[in-house]
Amino acid sequence: MRTRDFLEWPFFTPGHRELAARVDAWAFERFAGDGAHAEDRAAVDAACRELVRDLGRGGWTRYSVPGEVLLAGSAAHRTAGASGSAAGGGGQFDVAHGGSAAGGSAGGSGSAAGAGGSAGGSGSAVGAGGSAGGSGAAAGAGGGAAFDVRALALIRETLAWHNGLADFAFAMQGLGSGAITLAGSPAIKQKYLPRVAAGEAIAAFALSEPDAGSDVAAIKCSARLDGDSYVLDGQKTWISNGGIADFYCVFARTSPAELRPDGSVTARGISAFVVDANAPGFSIAERIDVIAPHPLATLAFNGCRIPVGNRLGPEGDGFKLAMRTLDVFRTSVAGAALGFAQRALDEALKQSLSRPMFGKTLADLQLTQAALADMATEIDAARLQTYRAAWLRDRGDTVTKEVAMAKMSATESAQRAIDRAVQIFGGRGVVHGETVEHLYRDIRALRIYEGATEVQKLIIARELLNAARKAQ
Ligand SMILES: Cc1cc2nc3c(=O)[nH]c(=O)nc-3n(C[C@H](O)[C@H](O)[C@H](O)COP(=O)(O)OP(=O)(O)OC[C@H]3O[C@@H](n4cnc5c(N)ncnc54)[C@H](O)[C@@H]3O)c2cc1C
Repeated sequence: MRTRDFLEWPFFTPGHRELAARVDAWAFERFAGDGAHAEDRAAVDAACRELVRDLGRGGWTRYSVPGEVLLAGSAAHRTAGASGSAAGGGGQFDVAHGGSAAGGSAGGSGSAAGAGGSAGGSGSAVGAGGSAGGSGAAAGAGGGAAFDVRALALIRETLAWHNGLADFAFAMQGLGSGAITLAGSPAIKQKYLPRVAAGEAIAAFALSEPDAGSDVAAIKCSARLDGDSYVLDGQKTWISNGGIADFYCVFARTSPAELRPDGSVTARGISAFVVDANAPGFSIAERIDVIAPHPLATLAFNGCRIPVGNRLGPEGDGFKLAMRTLDVFRTSVAGAALGFAQRALDEALKQSLSRPMFGKTLADLQLTQAALADMATEIDAARLQTYRAAWLRDRGDTVTKEVAMAKMSATESAQRAIDRAVQIFGGRGVVHGETVEHLYRDIRALRIYEGATEVQKLIIARELLNAARKAQ
């Protein structure tokens, strides 16, 4: 089995190390052969459903939901018995307008709830559910649930190394249910979260719209109170798990958009809801096919009626809730990028040692050595940033800047590393079915979703400038 020396870094507890080893062993067995699957829509949907079930059986989707949230509801015990693991996901937002709820740190002071996570601790392998950090788990900053961000990132890194779709399936269980964990009523938590943790219900996070991606405060989808129901009208697009999800956490306007003098939209007037896939008035408007296929769709809400109890948190707090959710899961996107990049480096090392060239091997040529050195160094730097951010968050620190740095550097350097690996493979590198060819497609969207690289730069600069202004 591979050695993963970085697990000895002081960011991790013994519980995290054991977790990483167990996920790796599980994935080696699950993806023995190569885990390849057909890429037509039906095959990808089926593979995804099966992966969610298997991740549930393996105990890994339990990390999508913090243990204390599961234990709080009696239904949680249905999922007991699994050995535990971790999950992740991410999101995007409007940082351009800073201020209020914008920015990576989720809407304002005390928001980043749920961030927290399990700090250090002597830790047995895995806590009662969703924490590898052992005892001493810190309550989430802002009073939210204690996600274990290091565990989420480690699981994503490990799964991404083995299989991109498995990483995706795992990530979405956390991202898709995070708003429920953070703001759902006890009844809503009990209804959805045990099934998410067990891999029995597929979750989705529905924020983006055709005209509201990076500028997410500009969403138009509306939710009108009508007796004991809300009625939703509008569209969501780019929704991962769209078409196979059992429920969607949907962000919609409960009051009209307010414009700033410069014409941009404020973050006020947005609320969050759970919408079941069989809710009247809900439909899949269109499926979207992307370069690394996974279930993705545009959703339509036409007079879609849901019970008032399906609202998540107070009316008007939806933007903050979306940011809080993304804030928890964004570091794990960096984790996934590390997994893809490390796999590319491992494949490149093998190929360069075995490929005969000019009477030697490719590895004997200094230009190859330079490429390998660049890849390894960039991956190491990104990994340090990623697990530093996760460790700080698990301590309860506010780490907006560090998380943005990790997301940007891990995804951007992974793209470069994978491109170098393709180059090292020569013609073979672009053949369908080659591992590096798949990685080349797998990595691309990570630089766009959950805050594109440009948006991360804006966050980092905003944090730097705010600190510098304060210091003046
Ligand atoms: C594979 C995939 C899965 C996704 N899954 C989900 C999901 O599950 N749920 C969900 O809600 N959304 C999801 N998304 C949507 C994703 O979050 C958006 O695509 C992303 O936020 C970018 O929005 P956009 O596509 O509208 O691009 P735009 O917002 O139009 O951005 C276009 C470009 O402008 C850049 N830009 C943004 N701000 C600035 C600025 N101030 N200055 C200069 N340039 C700027 C961006 O970085 C980007 O390069 C997914 C997207 C993809 C591709």
